Amino acid sequence: MVERKPIDVFGMTTSELASLCDELGEPRYRAEQLADWLYRKGVRDFSAMTNLPKTLRERLKECAALTRAEVVAKHAADDGTTKFLLKLSDGETVESVLLPYPDRVSVCVSTQVGCPVGCVFCATGASGFVRNLTAGEIVDQVLTLSEASRATHVVFMGMGEPLLNFENVLKAVRLLHDEVGISMRRMTVSTVGITPAIRRMADLKLQLTLAVSLHAPDQDLRAQLIPLSAKYPLDELLQVCRSYANYTKRRITFEYLLLAGINDSPSHAARLAKILKGTLCHVNLIPFNEVPEADFKRPSERVIAAFRAVLERSGVQVTQRVERGHAVAAACGQLRRRSAGGALS
Ligand code: SAH
Ligand code: SF4
Repeated sequence: MVERKPIDVFGMTTSELASLCDELGEPRYRAEQLADWLYRKGVRDFSAMTNLPKTLRERLKECAALTRAEVVAKHAADDGTTKFLLKLSDGETVESVLLPYPDRVSVCVSTQVGCPVGCVFCATGASGFVRNLTAGEIVDQVLTLSEASRATHVVFMGMGEPLLNFENVLKAVRLLHDEVGISMRRMTVSTVGITPAIRRMADLKLQLTLAVSLHAPDQDLRAQLIPLSAKYPLDELLQVCRSYANYTKRRITFEYLLLAGINDSPSHAARLAKILKGTLCHVNLIPFNEVPEADFKRPSERVIAAFRAVLERSGVQVTQRVERGHAVAAACGQLRRRSAGGALS
């Protein structure tokens, strides 16, 4: 068994590092140097921190840990989309995806090992919930993937429900902003709509981009697809989303997963347009990515086009998820499950 050190510097803010320096009787500017090595230079070992005195490096090694995840699998598609499987210090694994575009590099990060929401169509949901990720484990994904190509944007859209791990996600957002230098507006939190947490985001005056996974135009169907949403009435959720959009002055993205024969008819589209009327938003259509864990089908292109046309005719702005990296693995959660089943070497 590896002995676990009580404190881990990776995931600490500069001011937390300053308190550590105080305890060690070191000057406070050492905290800035530490933060620089951890979050800007991304070193994985105290020995690499060459502007710290050797004695301090030795002391840090004795009293603190610097924990980073290990890349255990990596799959790249022709378009450059690369899915990483990362092993955490307790042996659990999570997925993160690097999405290079001509004008930016996005990193899609996980926020939990598994997910407690249990959406009926989702491979991550099917694997159950294991634990929350720490802020350090979330930031680590961005830095590890940035070694391949420096991230300019972060989307909290990997495994897990970010707003059920609010404190750690919030700390990760602050570290990514203050220490790594990524602006809040370039970070998108995708949520099934944990209403009180969205209210808190507004209270804290965060400028994060919000994406809400809607998937249905009414409460009943929504609760069937997203069991946890039964706790959060749709009317109230939309009301909170409207106030978040009004306050940030930015459009909310409503994600709508299209499942053949379930939520993809023109009448679903018409009802969706109705409930979104007057909201600063756009709808991102996501044709279902077929996964072995769920028995749903992707609608035909004709059905998708008809759904889209109804929304557009009603004045709703619509985008369709550009599907990237099909060859890598299907939806999020797949790589981890395949690896657990021994399908990955
Ligand atoms: N828990 C958050 C963020 C992670 S899931 C959320 O649900 O919003 C990110 C997105 O992937 C969600 O919109 C989800 O509906 C979608 N998704 C899950 N399984 C999918 C699948 N098999 N095909 C296409 N999209 C899927
Ligand atoms: Fe969790 Fe999102 Fe998957 Fe639903 S879609 S089970 S909230 S990760």
